[in-house]
Amino acid sequence: MKVGIMGGTFDPVHIGHMLAAEAALQGCTLDEVWFMPSHIPPHKHEAGAGGDERLQMVELAVGTNPAFRTLDIELVRGGVSYTIDTIRELRARYTEHEFFFIIGADMVNFLTQWHGIEELAQVLTFIGVGRPGSVIRKEDLPDYLQEKVVLVNMPQVDISSTDIRERLAAGKSVRYMVHDLVNEYIQRSGIYEPDTR
Ligand code: ATP
Ligand code: MG
Repeated sequence: MKVGIMGGTFDPVHIGHMLAAEAALQGCTLDEVWFMPSHIPPHKHEAGAGGDERLQMVELAVGTNPAFRTLDIELVRGGVSYTIDTIRELRARYTEHEFFFIIGADMVNFLTQWHGIEELAQVLTFIGVGRPGSVIRKEDLPDYLQEKVVLVNMPQVDISSTDIRERLAAGKSVRYMVHDLVNEYIQRSGIYEPDTR
């Protein structure tokens, strides 16, 4: 079975994430994509929403799509979420699976800075998707990585979770930028309203 891991903070999950996962699924003929919220991402500010809330929103977005699943492995492990630890754990648990890791253009150019990247490149294929504002420069990557990064096309979506949080903080709508059920959850819970935190 070919499994694409879609890792992220998902604070909140938005349609850019869903389209990236779908493009990877189709473009690399994966069997499934597992959406995996990180606990504390390396090099990032503290998340706005808690882990349980981010996971719940991802579950709502993934919905009934039989090819999409959620994976709470990093939330359960806690601490800083290093992909290398996660992949070692997944390979030990699912010995028959072939793993891919889906990343947006902004991440592709920084792969060399990932913890344990040489080991990751031996056991994973990275699937890079385009993202407005970042140009993928595959030729700048070291040879061992160039071989392990495949690019797939997706409709370009100029949306980020940061942008969504800012819109919500300003009282603006994020309808159609996130799944309807995620929008309802955000409105109902008020998690991104400044006065509730
Ligand atoms: P933030 O603004 O909080 O960093 P984000 O929108 O970048 O949020 P993340 O959870 O950081 O979302 O991203 C998870 C993964 O999804 C990363 O690999 C990122 O590059 C990718 N991604 C996020 N948004 C898009 C998008 N609009 N198009 C393509 N890939 C995306
Ligand atoms: Mg990001």
